[in-house]
Amino acid sequence: MHFSRRMVFGTVITVAVLASGLPAQAQEVLNLYSARHYQTDDALYAGFTEQTGIEINRIEGESDALIERIKSEGANSPADVFITVDAGRLWRAEEAGLFQPVESEVLDKAIPENLRHPDGLWYGFSTRARLIYYDKSKIQPGEIKDYEDLADPKWKGKVCIRSSSNVYNQSLLSALIEAHGEAGAKEWAEGVVGNMARNPVGGDTDQIKGIGAGECEIAVANSYYFARLMTDPEQKALVEKVGWVFPDQDGRGTHVNVSGAGVLKNAPHKEAAVKFLEYLASPEAQRYFAEGNNEYPVIPGVETTAAVKELGTDFKVDPVNVSVYGSNQPVAQRVFDSVGWN
Ligand code: FE
Repeated sequence: MHFSRRMVFGTVITVAVLASGLPAQAQEVLNLYSARHYQTDDALYAGFTEQTGIEINRIEGESDALIERIKSEGANSPADVFITVDAGRLWRAEEAGLFQPVESEVLDKAIPENLRHPDGLWYGFSTRARLIYYDKSKIQPGEIKDYEDLADPKWKGKVCIRSSSNVYNQSLLSALIEAHGEAGAKEWAEGVVGNMARNPVGGDTDQIKGIGAGECEIAVANSYYFARLMTDPEQKALVEKVGWVFPDQDGRGTHVNVSGAGVLKNAPHKEAAVKFLEYLASPEAQRYFAEGNNEYPVIPGVETTAAVKELGTDFKVDPVNVSVYGSNQPVAQRVFDSVGWN
């Protein structure tokens, strides 16, 4: 490509043209469509360019909007790699036929098998845990331990959890479907709806803040939201009021999800795209990638943030392959609808 083009969401691609009008030697590029953007991104991507000489053009946007965009660009899409959060969203891109399988020994070795698509359509590069939070002034440690407890009638009117349109809850329910079958998951969802302190409203942070406001005694939110609150001096009172639980430690383990990426079917720079995924699995990139959002690196020995260390790094993880969060998503939606989980 020997032209300048302004991308709708972000970076400007500029390829130098010589005075003669002939293109300068084409710099190798990688077009990255990302629904994940954090402060550490610049360092993350600069590291790749330094190692490989490949320049990264970033298009940033909301996950479903980027999926629509890649779909509508079709065979002419310049997109090489799509990054998003939650295996449920990776599945939506997969369902739209956007990914191509990657074969890479580097990736197969680095990324645990349960955190990647069985056919190499996408790979998880960091994890987040879906935790239960509680009001320490009302609930004793150990009183609530498992996701299953959220459905116990003992907690009637006390649980804050967000809407069923949210992919994190769709993935959690998909994991429960895997563990208990559709009927068991439905019973659980029914119980949770019966225990809701309020009609679902807001994002994950709002559920935790519901405890601070005295609206609920129990909340459900991803780990990085609480890690973020921990680092915010203005939230000190809230953080001190709230206890947290890594659920299901005596059972199958805590529900974790991934931030992940895959190579797109029509990627014009497939080789660069695979190199980029392999780079994301390297210790240097893992640190930036996980640090950007207080997530857990997927390879051992990589430093986590202070907040994540305080939250906890040593816990039992549900070993289920995260790809079932996608394949069970239609059933999860049906269950949510049938129990009236708004
Ligand atoms: Fe989030």
